[in-house]
Amino acid sequence: MAERCLRVAHLYPELLNLYGDSGNILVLRKRMEWRQMACVVEETHVGDGLSLTDVDLVFIGGGSDREQKIVCDSLLRSQCELAAFVADGGVLLAVCGGYQLLGHSYAMGDQVVPGLSLVDLYTDRGSPRLIGNVCVKSPIAAEPIVGYENHGGRTHLGPGVEPLGEVVHGYGNDGTSGEEGCRYHNVVGTYVHGPLLPKNPGVADWLIARALERKYGTAELEPLDDTEEHAANQVMRTRIAHT
Ligand code: GLN
Repeated sequence: MAERCLRVAHLYPELLNLYGDSGNILVLRKRMEWRQMACVVEETHVGDGLSLTDVDLVFIGGGSDREQKIVCDSLLRSQCELAAFVADGGVLLAVCGGYQLLGHSYAMGDQVVPGLSLVDLYTDRGSPRLIGNVCVKSPIAAEPIVGYENHGGRTHLGPGVEPLGEVVHGYGNDGTSGEEGCRYHNVVGTYVHGPLLPKNPGVADWLIARALERKYGTAELEPLDDTEEHAANQVMRTRIAHT
């Protein structure tokens, strides 16, 4: 079989990279390379056009309100391209600020910023900020998802949108629903920084598998030795259990 290759579009890495979110790209790349797959990453910067014709996976990280505002207009110009990608089963991971921009709107201060409307959700604002370690049980990963959240936004999912998972510890989407993140077609949105993927290899493999399935019709992934990743996940769960 010809070498498999996935193309990743990394949106606005210089602005949306809170708490090491760009580390998610390193994990995707390494987990593909360890399986003799090629991974091509293309960065999109503010003002660039976006073509997703050959793209398999899109990543959008988190950012402060100021940074979200800067990328917003550029992102909205690519709305049609992104909507077509999602409808076609394209894989998209968005973290925190990026997650909020997937919805219809995001309220920052007195201003309501329009979102991409890729997923039926919206984000308003609350006080205080929701900050701390977070642990989530999700059907897409065998191990609980662990990480760190810090957001003023409260995200509300529409009726057809599944959460990424159920909050075991922390706040998640709004601090009251018990839900964290969203899942819609092959889109995952989450408040989990850390970055997300190094301590949650099951999530990384879920994303890679969905992209392979869409491109090659089979999601076959050989297992990796994840001893260190599982240990890192366990350290966080132990820490969380003692808080
Ligand atoms: N600026 C957004 C908020 O405060 C997202 C922050 C983030 O990405 N951590 O809700």
